[in-house]
Amino acid sequence: MMTRRQAIKTTALAGAALATLPGVIAQPMPAAPAAAAPAGPFTLPPLPYAYDALEPYIDARTMEIHHDKHHAAYVANLNKAVAEFPDVGKVSVKDLLENLDAVPEKIRLAVRNQGGGHYNHTLFWQMLKKDAGGPKGVLAAAIDKQFGSFNSFQEAWIKAAGGVFGSGWAWLVVDANEQLSIEPTPNQDSPVSQGKQPLLGIDVWEHAYYLKYQNRRPEYVAAFSHVINWDFVSERYERAIA
Ligand code: MN
Repeated sequence: MMTRRQAIKTTALAGAALATLPGVIAQPMPAAPAAAAPAGPFTLPPLPYAYDALEPYIDARTMEIHHDKHHAAYVANLNKAVAEFPDVGKVSVKDLLENLDAVPEKIRLAVRNQGGGHYNHTLFWQMLKKDAGGPKGVLAAAIDKQFGSFNSFQEAWIKAAGGVFGSGWAWLVVDANEQLSIEPTPNQDSPVSQGKQPLLGIDVWEHAYYLKYQNRRPEYVAAFSHVINWDFVSERYERAIA
């Protein structure tokens, strides 16, 4: 009987001998499927709650596809884009979006679109929580000051989200002068590319709501008011003005 150690040694030697024999070609390493994207440097963060955590306002199936397929695709395509520029992959996606002019021209649009998609969605998941009340502390006061009241803010928010033409986002942002505003962005453009910090964003791409709401974007926008993580949004504001 061969011991396990001897068996490993014998197998390894046989493999080594085989590989050196003339005319015998060693088995190549199994190649990755051609369509597979590089596994990094950017990675898909896990959804920070269960798919059904936002039911009935946002359904589990939409969350699953939105995170596991759409967000994953932005990450995969961003990794593909930066594959031939390793230095770009060492920079955080936020830094890339804040300095798009510094990104090699060949991949600038891909970083803007795919990197924007990755960054925006990473924020988006954290901005959602069911029945999380309203704005807190200094943000509550700043919203009252800027918009007159929370109700006026909500009216402006709903109007902006409904008014995005085609695919895009509406955002509550704070600029370098600590000024709050509501602004839309087309496609996956991120407010950070304009030097503004996104506090709250609503994804109004159809993939964010079509399974449940079909063409009824206003219903999705109204339901969204029940799933805003105001604790997270309020903390972002406090950090942005600190
Ligand atoms: Mn989306």
